Amino acid sequence: MTKPELKVKSIENGTVIDHIPANKALQVLKILGLPEEGTNVTLAMNVPSKLGYKDIVKFENRELGHTEIDKIALIAPDSTINIIRDFEIVSKNQVSLVKELNGIVKCTNPKCISNTDEPIESKFYLVEVDPITVRCHYCERLVQADEIYNQFE
Ligand SMILES: [Zn+2]
Repeated sequence: MTKPELKVKSIENGTVIDHIPANKALQVLKILGLPEEGTNVTLAMNVPSKLGYKDIVKFENRELGHTEIDKIALIAPDSTINIIRDFEIVSKNQVSLVKELNGIVKCTNPKCISNTDEPIESKFYLVEVDPITVRCHYCERLVQADEIYNQFE
């Protein structure tokens, strides 16, 4: 007997983020500021998949911006983002880690120029993928996955 694929009620307009690593869906929701009043969110965690287990997040009437997608890539680098319009998937894209992160991660060095009162957008370069490590453009401070995830909470 084969295990049935998880069926989630189809949505008219919205976004499905699939292939999130197991137990990371809540962090993804935090990045998106969900749940929020008026947005229908469906969450599935620890769903069996070809490569073990995964999480799936689905929400109505909202599509994602570039900053949100870049943040999600740091937590769920293999996830796919499906855009639904009129019950049809109109686009399906795997997120990708960008080599340069602008205004997404905050530098952990309190003396860094990006942390002064002057409005300088933070800028980081991806130096390591597993675990994620980024380097500050201004002070060269290395910031690691856990510190980045804390910022998203
Ligand atoms: Zn810095």
